[in-house]
Amino acid sequence: MTFLDSSRWDSKIYVDGWREATGGTQDVLEPATGAVLGHVGVASAADVRRAATRAAQAQPDWAARRPEERAAVLRRAGQLWEDHAGEIQGWIIRESGGIEAKAGLETHTAANECYEAAALPSHPAGEVLTSNEDRWSFARRRPSGVVSVIAPFNFPLILSIRSVAPALALGNSVLLKPDPRTAVSGGVTLMRVFEEAGLPAGVLSLLPGGAETGAAVVEAPEVRVVSFTGSTAAGRKVGESAARLLKRAHLELGGNNALVVLPGTDVAKAASAGAFGSFMHQGQICMSTGRHFVHDSLYEDYVAALAQKAEHLLVGDPAGGPVALGPIIDEKQLNHIHALVEGAVQAGGRLAAGGTHEGLFYRPTVLADLALDNPAFAQEIFGPVAPVTRFSTLDEVVEMVNANDYGLAVGILGDVGAAMKLADRISSGKIHINEQTVADEANAPFGGVGASGTGSRFGGATANIEAFTEVQWLTMRPGIAPYPF
Ligand code: NAD
Repeated sequence: MTFLDSSRWDSKIYVDGWREATGGTQDVLEPATGAVLGHVGVASAADVRRAATRAAQAQPDWAARRPEERAAVLRRAGQLWEDHAGEIQGWIIRESGGIEAKAGLETHTAANECYEAAALPSHPAGEVLTSNEDRWSFARRRPSGVVSVIAPFNFPLILSIRSVAPALALGNSVLLKPDPRTAVSGGVTLMRVFEEAGLPAGVLSLLPGGAETGAAVVEAPEVRVVSFTGSTAAGRKVGESAARLLKRAHLELGGNNALVVLPGTDVAKAASAGAFGSFMHQGQICMSTGRHFVHDSLYEDYVAALAQKAEHLLVGDPAGGPVALGPIIDEKQLNHIHALVEGAVQAGGRLAAGGTHEGLFYRPTVLADLALDNPAFAQEIFGPVAPVTRFSTLDEVVEMVNANDYGLAVGILGDVGAAMKLADRISSGKIHINEQTVADEANAPFGGVGASGTGSRFGGATANIEAFTEVQWLTMRPGIAPYPF
């Protein structure tokens, strides 16, 4: 039996072992072909309640394990991602429609997330404070308790593991709710890895399902912290619910990320960066380049170079051979993309490449001469579309970049001094100079501001400890303190 053999998990959820779900089952579909690859269980609200009760029971013992024991589980998990990378990548390619390089990035990052997290159990757990009283005073970090992780379809593995690994390492138990369209890549794989890595029973549960299951993992009374990655609309609902229930919610939401091409930049290199930023994984990345701002002096050359790239990229089934772009995740998303492209042209934009599709395979598309209020410029597209406009002065481009509700990622190409001056004036969770907008590393604090999220961060010890622990003030005196009463 292979590591991901479906006889273990088909039609099931995981709560203290693989079991039937009371919410029924859902097909696992391959967007490139429409084939049914298997089925996952759908967790009902009752399943979620059972998992939350079990998570709360199991958490204190897990938190009390020696740091080296928790670290060892995370290290073994890291190794398992590497040992079974080929099989896991096969699922990511077929279920999420990602190309081989994207699937490789997911398993590689998953391993790194676990290795980084393996250092968290032995990380200093707080501070020794001074005190004006005759006491010892400590601010110490304690696990939050039960953490819910809700993940989207696009990078299903990375966006689950980046919260699951540090939350577990820091002594929490976790309820994982992947997107139902990618419940194997973003759920079953993690469950199998931690099962094999020796995580104690009850500490991690897998609860696939849609918005209702998501609402249930937010509302379960045992849950103290919610880590949500997804759309701004759903994130608002999760945030509202968490606020009402006085829970902490880390919200990593949508983006409409700007790439600025400064005067004097090498156009061929800039167009290569711009094409990657907009077309990688069919533009279905929160950090995808959604707005290209190009200096007047390079504008026409850049549009031409980008359009040429778009026209030459291969689009097809990523399981069938090397292609640059695979399918869009489903028809709903495809229709959203196509409506925005058609709307952009109706609003005065110029279609420089693409704009067509065969089934779920959308051609990489370049839209030029867009006004700032053109829908393709103002909204997140989440498709392989590169909207381009021009600027003449640095003051102007600062205003244009900042004139958007989102604030996740910005790329600036060109002279480093000018780019740094721009960076100082731009509001964004991440800024990459001489890179396009898509970048993520397990040890770097990832997150956005404005409509892109609450400004919380994942990645690296500082951000992860802040996200998945609570501070406790602890004081101690040599004897009982004297009081005037
Ligand atoms: P989505 O919000 O529809 O779904 C994301 C997850 O939330 C899924 O698991 C879904 O089942 C669940 N969900 C939906 N409604 C819910 C609710 N009311 N309560 C609880 N859970 C709910 O997202 P999508 O459109 O499928 O994914 C794409 C979006 O995700 C884009 O906007 C993209 O920018 C964003 N995203 C953000 C990041 C980031 O790190 N900032 C990363 C990837 C994707």
